Amino acid sequence: MIVSKNPIFLSQTCHRPEPDLRDSRAIHEPSGRFPKSKLMTTVGPRLTAEQIEKLFQPIFVRLIAHLEAASGGDSKLLWALRRKLAKELIYLERGTPIRRKKLKQQKFIEQKGVCAICGRELPERGAELDRADAFLGYTPQNTRLVHHECHVADQQKKNYA
Ligand SMILES: [Zn+2]
Repeated sequence: MIVSKNPIFLSQTCHRPEPDLRDSRAIHEPSGRFPKSKLMTTVGPRLTAEQIEKLFQPIFVRLIAHLEAASGGDSKLLWALRRKLAKELIYLERGTPIRRKKLKQQKFIEQKGVCAICGRELPERGAELDRADAFLGYTPQNTRLVHHECHVADQQKKNYA
């Protein structure tokens, strides 16, 4: 793979803005109702150039080498390994779709079916998990179930605060 053998290209790749956390939401909650521009509001800490060079790049280079070695030159296997890895990395942050669904159900019961923001009834489908701390996971302690509209409005309020 060219990327692993060309540090300049790798460096340029790394300096591109990281995909926003909200991109993965679109994948895992395919309700089609997410106005991405409104929900793409979690601006995470970015790695500094030094962190990219000293921390990220060595991991990335090793990772690519591992993938290439494991695939043994089988391009289909390499593709599948990369895809699996990408998926699992997202799950590390977002939790698996099954766990998130269970958490939603748990929250729905805990909150007696009402939105934690406006106090009105939640729909059976389409309610969203809102994290108190975006950098902590989707745990019962860190989440509340809210309307999509309430979620968007609340995040806009936080961003303008
Ligand atoms: Zn609400």
